[in-house]
Amino acid sequence: MADWLDLNPDPAHVKREREKARALRKTDWWRAQIAAGVCHYCHKKVGAANLTLDHVVPVARGGKSTRGNCVPCCAACNASKKAYTPAEQILDQLFPAQSPSFEAHG
Ligand SMILES: [Zn+2]
Repeated sequence: MADWLDLNPDPAHVKREREKARALRKTDWWRAQIAAGVCHYCHKKVGAANLTLDHVVPVARGGKSTRGNCVPCCAACNASKKAYTPAEQILDQLFPAQSPSFEAHG
């Protein structure tokens, strides 16, 4: 990724928001979010048991454990998302760091 990706989380913020996320997972609101068993990102039906709580803006990037910032996410999307924000992922898709080199023959 680009050099401007600044990963410099405030440990106190991360700890506080992770604790809030843990509490949020126990609410009826969260149970309603995962009830359909559908991932927010790929829209695959993976079942409620296979969904994790994901922060749209990662906690490590200053995101908060609010209802607006927490979505159900499958394991595959969780693994590919890492600490990028949605805007950064779109940029990454539009401008891949390295595309396969094209070799012209003849
Ligand atoms: Zn997914």
